Amino acid sequence: MLSAIRLISEAADLAARRHNGMARKGRGSEPYINHLAEVANLLATATDGADAELVAAGWLHDTIEDTDATREELAQKFSERVASLVVECTDDMSLPKPERRRRQIVDASKKSAGAKLIKIADKISNIGARIHSDPTTEERDDLVDYTGWAEQVVAGCRGGNSWLDQTFDDAVQRARASL
Ligand code: ZN
Repeated sequence: MLSAIRLISEAADLAARRHNGMARKGRGSEPYINHLAEVANLLATATDGADAELVAAGWLHDTIEDTDATREELAQKFSERVASLVVECTDDMSLPKPERRRRQIVDASKKSAGAKLIKIADKISNIGARIHSDPTTEERDDLVDYTGWAEQVVAGCRGGNSWLDQTFDDAVQRARASL
């Protein structure tokens, strides 16, 4: 397997290339890579740098869902564990959004310990991106809707890392305070 530094560096490079030109939801035209950097950094902080595969999977967590990357490619280039962590964080995009959201709630508690941490970091980042200083009605509704759903998903993921759990709770509190 690649060294820890190479694993993370290669993951960041592949994520940057595959998500090139994509913008994230909320925050205007912020590049998608900012979301991936935030998620990877939350995971690195939460585990104090002890799990390179987890941080690499953080960089890559949306590549199968949103780009042409495949499980086989990630397994070959990174590791079997990195590939399965990303697969665990991949929604079935052939399903309608309400069903995808319902499944995330139902499936959360069945995920591996690592995938649960990625899910929490993902929700922290996505809530943060939806907090605006002077929100429109639409932005406000979206934040309320997203945060309520994220809390249900995270309820099934908690307990593995108290710092990440707390950081999620802080994000929810900031979201509510911004309304
Ligand atoms: Zn994500």
